[in-house]
Amino acid sequence: MHQTIHQTISHHALLKWYSPSTKLIERLIYPVFVSTEENCYEDLMYLPGQKRIGTKRLYNHLKPLVDGGLQSIILFISSDSIHKDEEGSFADDSVNPVIKAIGLLKEWFPRLLIACDVCVCAYTSHGHCGLTLANGNIDNSRSIKRLADIALAYAQAGCDVVAPSDMMDNRVMAIKEILRANSLSSTVSILSYAAKFHSSLYTPFRKVSSSSPLYGDRSKYQLPFESHSVAMKSIVSIITLFHKKRDIEEGADFIIVKPGLFYLDIVCKAKELFPFTPVAVYQVSGEYAAIYHASKAGILDLDQTIHEYLSGCIRAGASMIITYFVPQIIFNKNHEY
Ligand SMILES: [Zn+2]
Repeated sequence: MHQTIHQTISHHALLKWYSPSTKLIERLIYPVFVSTEENCYEDLMYLPGQKRIGTKRLYNHLKPLVDGGLQSIILFISSDSIHKDEEGSFADDSVNPVIKAIGLLKEWFPRLLIACDVCVCAYTSHGHCGLTLANGNIDNSRSIKRLADIALAYAQAGCDVVAPSDMMDNRVMAIKEILRANSLSSTVSILSYAAKFHSSLYTPFRKVSSSSPLYGDRSKYQLPFESHSVAMKSIVSIITLFHKKRDIEEGADFIIVKPGLFYLDIVCKAKELFPFTPVAVYQVSGEYAAIYHASKAGILDLDQTIHEYLSGCIRAGASMIITYFVPQIIFNKNHEY
């Protein structure tokens, strides 16, 4: 299959994602939830072991992890006190702590790769991942323009990677174009959620980011997972992925399959179809919480389970894994990853 190679690889951590000999620690991406309150450092009830962190507390939280080998993070907003409106205007407002955090993190940890989630669901009054029409349906063309503007704001703030998680049609192209128009396309990469399934496993995250839709659900823009048989399910998934191949042709540098464990067949197929594009697995909040609680209840051995999970992702063809277990992995002295 023809694949256009216009990939943006401007950060040393990105190069590592292409190499088969890269150590596991260098393949991990740690999700960080940034609070609007600068001194905030509180536990997230639905994501036990994770924190909502204000910009003044980020340094102390991340320093031991960076010293322990952390290479990459992805930033999300997490706050109950965001001003929400139809357009999600807070997303690219200069007072958004995500934008402030990018500058601070670049100053503190110049070698740390900073990716930013790009979506409007945590910022819109309706909670959908795109802008809506009067009838409640998604307005795709307005949505991708808005998402491109948000991506540009994060890129201008200094992030290395923008990661659109909305699943609107043609948003990667819109983002690539706006980056190009602002001379940022050679320094800011696009990590696209190319295969984001409509999954029940996102529930803890939505509670953390206050991003549940006010009405309807996301089945119209996230991918369906079900079919009448295992074989059909596989075929539908592959066709759906083919459908999304335009993300790469539009200019995505890397793609994400999300969730992880139930969708490793998709990772495998993505690698077959696009051997030169590193694929990330997002071990989502529901997967994390299930493993965490089972280990706390003494049902699973946490370290063994994490090790097995990560190995399964790599075996399926993943080059990167986004996981909340990063601190567990880095600080674990008993287990060699
Ligand atoms: Zn969203």
